[in-house]
Amino acid sequence: MVRQEDPRGLQPWDELPSFCETILSGMGFTIAAFLRYNVDMIVCFEYKMYPDREHVETMLHTFEVCRHLYNNALSQRIQAWKYDHVSLNYCTLANELPALKKKAQPLTTIHSQVVQDVLKRLERAYANFFRRVQQKKKGKKIKAGFPRFKGIGRYRSFTYPSWGNGVSLDGDILHLSKIGDIRIRLHRVLEGTPKTATISKKADGWYVSIACKVEEEPLPKTGKDVGIDVGIENFATLSDDNDTIPNSRFLQKAQAHLRVCQRRLERRSRYSGRGKKRKLLSHQSKRRDKARVLLAKAHQNVARARKDFHHKVAYALVHAFDTIYIENLSIGNMLKNHCLARAISDVAWGQFFQILKNKAERAAKIVMDVAPYNTSQICSGCGRIVPKALSCRVHRCPYADCGLNVHRDKNSAEQIRKVGRDAALSR
Ligand SMILES: [Zn+2]
Repeated sequence: MVRQEDPRGLQPWDELPSFCETILSGMGFTIAAFLRYNVDMIVCFEYKMYPDREHVETMLHTFEVCRHLYNNALSQRIQAWKYDHVSLNYCTLANELPALKKKAQPLTTIHSQVVQDVLKRLERAYANFFRRVQQKKKGKKIKAGFPRFKGIGRYRSFTYPSWGNGVSLDGDILHLSKIGDIRIRLHRVLEGTPKTATISKKADGWYVSIACKVEEEPLPKTGKDVGIDVGIENFATLSDDNDTIPNSRFLQKAQAHLRVCQRRLERRSRYSGRGKKRKLLSHQSKRRDKARVLLAKAHQNVARARKDFHHKVAYALVHAFDTIYIENLSIGNMLKNHCLARAISDVAWGQFFQILKNKAERAAKIVMDVAPYNTSQICSGCGRIVPKALSCRVHRCPYADCGLNVHRDKNSAEQIRKVGRDAALSR
């Protein structure tokens, strides 16, 4: 499930003046509860498509047309700023489209709203860039990342931004304007009101992702809250009882197979001839292309297994608890530790937290971020600091009046719940 995001990266409550909070709390609302009535909840349903050869050709052609438009628009924006100091936005570029269509015939071969969406994507890329620049100014250690030109094969999806206009579903047949009728595998029923449809090409075929506006589905309250400490040794440790969720280490398990695939790709060269006669092939060799697809599929399998696991854990947690406290980790900084980077990417806490938050929101449960300050060092029994290195896996409180002796992650989870409860009370 994805929330519709503000292109400037603002959260809805960033724009609410502070007096709103006062008024709302006077009315007995929390901001989160108030927003639930105001922000659309969007869930994406993804279905596999079964296009025939003609459909595939048309869709690949659409990618190329979109890619050229994207690159041209980007170049236009750069030039306008460089020479005239004019900032072109979506509206200016979109107004030029009718004139452009008269000159560039391929643009008329794809649906008009799909064309407009390309410019909207560029607008979003710029907005994200400016947001990151602002964050950088505030001292966050990230790259600003200016929007890039897209090379061949780097534009792999296009969107019909309004359902019913160029795109519709009839049974298991997807009607796409200017492309045709394509059968999809309707493995689950579409819920809510469809809003947009995005067609994308993945390693193992074509998919359509339909974004639907859905209603909240509250789950029965259990009256329990929990603190969660995520780690590498165990995927998650709960403050509740002695519960730990083991780390499945999907990447590590697949490593041997991935290595074989990667080597096969490297072996099948991009070049012809040897030594001084070595030349880059004008077209990619078929054997190399096959190896590339196999590697991509292997990576896709790992990512899917991991995502499935995240969904299952989040589902269980949202059913069992009303409030879930998690640590607001800065994963980007943690990845700078080279020894742990692979293991950290493998557990992918960021994706898990996002899934957890989305599920909780729909179920009318609460996920609260807790500042990660010293949660592993503070004793959850007495609140005093007990310093320990990362390698020390057990928390032993040296003070006689406390003497807490538990696993280090268990202590952190308890501490996270404690801090979370305090923060919830002070709100
Ligand atoms: Zn203690």
